[in-house]
Amino acid sequence: MQPETVYLGLGANEGDRAANIHRAVERLASVPGLMVVRLSSLRESPLWGEGPEQGPYLNAVAELRSSLPPAALLAVCQAIERELLRRPAAVRNAPRPIDLDVLLHGERRIDDKDLTVPHPRMFERPFVTEPLRELGVDVDALQHRLGGATPRQIVGASEFASVCSEWLERGLRVGLVPTMGALHEGHCSLFERARRECDRVAATIFVNPLQFGPNEDLAAYPRDLPGDLRQCGRTGVDVVFTPHPADMYPAGFCSTVEVGAEAETMEGAVRPGHFRGVATVVARLFALARPHRAYFGQKDAQQVAVIRRMALDLGFPLQIVECPTVRDEHGLALSSRNAYLDDESRRAALVLSAALRAARAAFADGERDRDALLAVAQQTIAAEPRAELDYLELRREGDLGPLPAGPLPTGPLPGGRLLVAARFVGMRPVRLLDNMSLDAALEGT
Ligand code: AMP
Repeated sequence: MQPETVYLGLGANEGDRAANIHRAVERLASVPGLMVVRLSSLRESPLWGEGPEQGPYLNAVAELRSSLPPAALLAVCQAIERELLRRPAAVRNAPRPIDLDVLLHGERRIDDKDLTVPHPRMFERPFVTEPLRELGVDVDALQHRLGGATPRQIVGASEFASVCSEWLERGLRVGLVPTMGALHEGHCSLFERARRECDRVAATIFVNPLQFGPNEDLAAYPRDLPGDLRQCGRTGVDVVFTPHPADMYPAGFCSTVEVGAEAETMEGAVRPGHFRGVATVVARLFALARPHRAYFGQKDAQQVAVIRRMALDLGFPLQIVECPTVRDEHGLALSSRNAYLDDESRRAALVLSAALRAARAAFADGERDRDALLAVAQQTIAAEPRAELDYLELRREGDLGPLPAGPLPTGPLPGGRLLVAARFVGMRPVRLLDNMSLDAALEGT
């Protein structure tokens, strides 16, 4: 084989970390068909992603010339890991004396059972990108050429299901992020979290007709597929499922998921049938992708509660991950519908987070009466003439069940969660949601 330039990532957080890295490099240099060209400097960083409590990593990148086939290079790396006493990992991300990753292999893209090149998470890891830059690699150009710059787009439901089941058969951990597109940083935070926690990330972009009422904004809902694909590429999404309604609901489709009385309060009361549509599409996506984890935003807290309940009741064996609300610098929760706001309504919409914060401040000052706390938020909203309140409620943390009047619960989940929806009159009316825990420490859990 013609020699190719190969970059390997090296990391160690057990034993004499620097010595382990140098030993691994010496071992690589002794393999026929491999030549070590250079090693970057060593830099320290904490564990990336989730794992047991452990010390920081020392990382470096080695540039090699290799005339080995990629599978043989991988076998060499694994043999060196074994030789340097790396036990088979009992848990994911356990501490290790040495970890060797094939980052880049010439300009190849490889997606085999045991080897994915470019390494799927390399572009988001500073302990990989910085040493690569130090070695003179134009990381941004490379990411554009080889990275997730163009994630695979799938339209057909059966093709999507078969790609996901192939991942599952390979033992990969699959994360699913359902969205309606017009992606913003809130969505991207879900993709990035899924990227950190899973081996493969599937995003779905589907403006689901079942969850829109007859007088709602289905036809006008913002759509920007090229922009969305770029965002997905930038955040390391592997596959973007963009079905047409007929792919999701083929002719004859008539089964829906009913989600109980609680789903008829708040959003469900204002938008009858909304959560039936949400639960039906999400159940269908869970059945197609069979993910290990599915990511949702706390921004739509009632939706998360409904989906948790549905997944439990129907027995989907997956973890629902609730991600914190991403806001702009003024506190406005990011939403695809913010695109409808004119300048004046955008300013007025800040009243939502301001009202929730005012109630939270009263809670921090010792106010514990449900209705007194609601009144604080209510007064703030009433002072904004452009806001027309749909509902303002204080609900139990977690399942968002109702709280009785009087003093709030104490214990592990003290206080409660305030949920608000309001319409903002302007050039065009825009309906926005927000919610916040009274206990700032519980935000983002
Ligand atoms: P949507 O496209 O509006 O259906 O949203 C798709 C997912 O992104 C849902 O789980 C939302 O809760 C989540 N999401 C939307 N806005 C935000 C935000 N500002 N912060 C975090 N997650 C969000």
